[in-house]
Amino acid sequence: MDKNVFIEKFTGKLPKDIKAATPQQLHSALGETVMELFADKWNESRQQHLSKRRAAYLSMEFLVGRAVYNNLLVLGIYDDVEKAFSELELDLSSLEEIEDAALGNGGLGRLAACFLDSAATLGLPLDGYGIRYKYGLFKQSIVDGFQREDIDDWTRYGDPWSVRCDEDTVLIEYSGQTVKAVPYDMPVFGFRTENVGTLRLWQAEPVKEFDFDLFNKQNYLEASKEKIFAEDISRVLYPNDDTDDGKKLRLKQQYFFSCASLMDIIKKHKARYGTLDNLADCISVQLNDTHPVISIPELIRQLVDNEGYTFEAALAMAKKIFNYTNHTVMQEALEKWRTDLVEELLPRIYAIIIQINEALIADMYAAGVEKDKINRIKIIKKDLIHMADMACYASSHINGVAEIHTQILKDSVLADWFSLYPERFRNETNGITQRRWIALCNKELSALITELLGNDDWINDLDKLKELSKFADDENVLRRFIDIKQDKKQQLADFIKTHDDITVSPDSVFDIQIKRLHEYKRQLLNAFSILWIYYGIKDGSIQNFKPTAFIFGAKSAPGYRRAKAIIKFINEIGRVVSSDPDTRDLIKVVFVQNYNVSYAEKLVAGTDISEQISTAGTEASGTGNMKLMLNGAVTLGTYDGANIEIVQEAGEENNYIFGARVEDLEKIVPDYDSRKIFAEDAMVRKVVSSLIDGTVSDGGSGDFRELYMALLDGASWHAPDHYYLLGDLRDYVETKLRCIYDYSGDRISFAKKQWLNMCNAGKFSSDRTIADYAENIWGICR
Ligand SMILES: *Cc1c(COP(=O)(O)O)cnc(C)c1O
Repeated sequence: MDKNVFIEKFTGKLPKDIKAATPQQLHSALGETVMELFADKWNESRQQHLSKRRAAYLSMEFLVGRAVYNNLLVLGIYDDVEKAFSELELDLSSLEEIEDAALGNGGLGRLAACFLDSAATLGLPLDGYGIRYKYGLFKQSIVDGFQREDIDDWTRYGDPWSVRCDEDTVLIEYSGQTVKAVPYDMPVFGFRTENVGTLRLWQAEPVKEFDFDLFNKQNYLEASKEKIFAEDISRVLYPNDDTDDGKKLRLKQQYFFSCASLMDIIKKHKARYGTLDNLADCISVQLNDTHPVISIPELIRQLVDNEGYTFEAALAMAKKIFNYTNHTVMQEALEKWRTDLVEELLPRIYAIIIQINEALIADMYAAGVEKDKINRIKIIKKDLIHMADMACYASSHINGVAEIHTQILKDSVLADWFSLYPERFRNETNGITQRRWIALCNKELSALITELLGNDDWINDLDKLKELSKFADDENVLRRFIDIKQDKKQQLADFIKTHDDITVSPDSVFDIQIKRLHEYKRQLLNAFSILWIYYGIKDGSIQNFKPTAFIFGAKSAPGYRRAKAIIKFINEIGRVVSSDPDTRDLIKVVFVQNYNVSYAEKLVAGTDISEQISTAGTEASGTGNMKLMLNGAVTLGTYDGANIEIVQEAGEENNYIFGARVEDLEKIVPDYDSRKIFAEDAMVRKVVSSLIDGTVSDGGSGDFRELYMALLDGASWHAPDHYYLLGDLRDYVETKLRCIYDYSGDRISFAKKQWLNMCNAGKFSSDRTIADYAENIWGICR
């Protein structure tokens, strides 16, 4: 890039008084400039992708985060732009105010974003399709220890990284409503390649903006109704789906982007080849969880109703084109749609689902499958449509996201399907992109790596970090690593001060748990451990405790009562430990507000101890665990998800593993009695009783008592303590204390463990994951 050309273009888009430009104005001008400079490159790549077998990643969520810094980095113009800014006496860091595009909830959406980054970098023809929500994931603040939610109007100041493509608008039909789907395209720049991927996000708009007839008749509300109802479809990410109304809107969203994306794929294919007979030779579609599975009957609908194929031929094509990724073993997350709802909203799709179901039954019957099994796997059971069963029947590949997760799918969740089609099952352990998750967010550590390796090829090949293992006993290198970690902790502490007005000392151990708030992720277990340490310090059973900051970042679903109660409980514990002179200098509890991708970038770089403590068998993979490992944190965790593979790579001796494993729980759970542990272990009793003994207050809501009862008595829908907190608590605290004492006892030995985690993070690059999908699932190449 020519810096002078850049400056000329850039300043041409700024107000005359450059120094008075707001961060939003700077961001728009910068975004527009970069988009212009790289438009040709993007266009060439679009043509390239269409000219060969390609893959489409359909996902209801893409948690891309803040685009600007990442785009500058991967385009290789970060330093030039930074220099240009300082020549103009501007500060690139003022763009920290720019909001994230938070078009996803958590891991599943962030994975989709990492995958696009890796595919672009590997030169692969993969493009993403999703929804352009007007409001992304809510903004969270903490008031009085409680979560507050606010809307996230992320495009309020514009969206310079998207291009509206009116010419590719399509119409989506529901029973009684037709809307426009207008695509907005975001470029996905690869690192050190000419390849640029496209993330196409569909926005819902009315066919007719406004009804003047009605308006003239003084019926103002009626006149704008069509516009409002149409825009509702892409208005919010994941509306509450526990009411019937919400359910319908979510189904509309799923159909909206599935239908639009398939129309787009078919239109482009026909324009190039003039026929759809070879469609399955040219495209592979990945279904990210069950959310886009309605694509299966929709593709069949388009082929049969619009293109004259028979149902049988269309189903056969669908079976070749689609692949399904399962992301969870929780029954409540495997989507099931009520037949009457689907029939009411999408009658033709419902009719096709019935046909698919009949084809499934006929196939199974012909293959001699026993009646009971057919009844278990058929798509329509009672009055529910089981999306995972439809996906398994009509996909050529089915994958889990970590070794243990795929094994659980084969053994239980999808066991019937595995017995029928073992060849369809694959494991694809998740990954993260090292561009955003170290090169961008930890420039200091990246510089050290590059210096020691002699080049920065590792940004394209993360396995290269293994070579750095030879420095694990080099005290000079370890001291430099410690200094960098200290630096990142200082930066994080400064940010927490400005952002959350909480003071935390960078000289304390940083023990961090960042992820969505869920009972299975067990933030409550972490909270109990802090209280345990507090009581231990008070009664003298814990001595010489080293100052430790327990940092949390998590959003709770707005309607998830227990999760919200856990947030309040953590904040209450923070109040207790810091108002007690015996502990205020030893324990600090921090709950940061609005945990998102940009906050994650700061947190992962400043972590000493990574908390990955889900009940064994519940976390499909996790990817936060990988980000923290890559930045040199040790894992304090259970044998669950990708933690198992992390420990295999980095060594059990360099991590802190505790708790019951899946095979232990199989034996324990049938006659598990949390009350027995409660009765026999005085410290467990004291800690758990703090929920109701007046130590902390839930503001009179009764929510803490409800948590307490759930642990000891269960609830109508679950057994007591079904995530096994009390069973794992003692082992967890002992392991945690060993970890914190190891840190304070010998900083160099602890740094060696941290270093070796970083060196062995190569497997967890999403480049590895995507190369495998490309070769073994999609059959695409550069
Ligand atoms: C990586 C990431 C996640 C996923 O974290 P897990 O610990 O794997 O659940 C969630 N949210 C954000 C913002 C992330 O960056």
